[in-house]
Amino acid sequence: MHSVKLLILLLIASITLPAFSYGQDFDQKPLTVGFDTHTDLSTLRIQAFSGDWQMTCIPVTATSPARLATHSVIVEKTLSEGEDSVLMLIPKGLIGRFSNDKDLDSGFAKVVFSGGEFLNLEFPDMPPLLLQGKIEIDFVEKNIRILNSINTAQFVVSCASRIAIGNEPEALKAIITVIRTRLKYLLENPLHKDKPYDLCNTEHCLPFEGCGYNRELVDLLVAETRNKVITFKGKSIQPRFHNTCSGKISAASDIYGVANEPYHPAHIDAPDEQSAENCYHSPNFHWKIELQKFDVLDFLALAFAAGADKIYTAWEPEKIDNNGRIYQIALKGRRPKSVSGTEFLQQLQFHFGQNSIKSMKFNIETLTRTVIFKGMGSGDGVGMCLYGADGLAKKNVSYEDILKFYYPGTEIK
Ligand SMILES: [Zn+2]
Ligand SMILES: [Zn+2]
Repeated sequence: MHSVKLLILLLIASITLPAFSYGQDFDQKPLTVGFDTHTDLSTLRIQAFSGDWQMTCIPVTATSPARLATHSVIVEKTLSEGEDSVLMLIPKGLIGRFSNDKDLDSGFAKVVFSGGEFLNLEFPDMPPLLLQGKIEIDFVEKNIRILNSINTAQFVVSCASRIAIGNEPEALKAIITVIRTRLKYLLENPLHKDKPYDLCNTEHCLPFEGCGYNRELVDLLVAETRNKVITFKGKSIQPRFHNTCSGKISAASDIYGVANEPYHPAHIDAPDEQSAENCYHSPNFHWKIELQKFDVLDFLALAFAAGADKIYTAWEPEKIDNNGRIYQIALKGRRPKSVSGTEFLQQLQFHFGQNSIKSMKFNIETLTRTVIFKGMGSGDGVGMCLYGADGLAKKNVSYEDILKFYYPGTEIK
């Protein structure tokens, strides 16, 4: 009799344990991602892709306490597997349309989806978003906002599946550990303190696009490296990474002017000066692009002078590190100023596209009407080189040694 009781107690303990002990089990820690909705988003099609979803609709009046007593009717509905719904934002709040005409017309402040496996969200002019966990839909001014609550492991699988290149397990484990460490740093040092979410879904924090692109191999390797993070002197670091360094990694102190990241020094991305670079197989090792001069002037006006013509008539590199990366640009014209290389690159890619100018390591050739950029590498060149990690994994280097190579002085714990 006692042993049965004990068994039951043990079972209960083993079921409830993970929920209460995520402090030690970082991969089970819950977190909320807020989706960036800069664009006008007022209609959303929602489909219960897998499983039945519980819909909890919280009325607009619930947010104004004075009227709460008479109008606080929370509506509960089920969106069964395969069923569709459309949420629309109108002046009185969110309203819903169901395929089997159970309309929700009274105007809600928030709609919460939970309990199902996968929920598919479709927006006008954007790829669909497949989500798991809890999804809350509310609005800020005239835009629908999406909040997704999942756990750390689910976030890392999604993010690493999108960022990682190739199929080398040790390289994948390295990027998984980098993302988990960066996520830990962001949760400890949040960039959105005034918002109801822990991090945004863009590169500002870490890119996240739901679980629609999840890779099975990445899923397995996240479980294999469970809770592993990179530490420096006992503290988890803020690891930086980029696509291709083209043989030379730059120091965070040069590129970002930071003094507290000794684990981001400048070094070569090769076994020695005579050997081939670890990232030599990257398609971004060398690149070239020709731009029209007037397009470049247009870019200067839009990116740095709020669209005004003739404020900036030229630009030139002002500071270049020992590896040839430009980290400060001088804008010439009526209001001369300096901008950081990383900001300049971000603006260039926003204007001309991600695949235009890939890094700040380039030479310029000026012709009559055009400018030719001849460059090397992709990204900021600081921290781990993704193609370099792939190259090292191809030479049978373990993920711990890959991480120690790109983040010298650190430990994997
Ligand atoms: Zn952010
Ligand atoms: Zn490299």
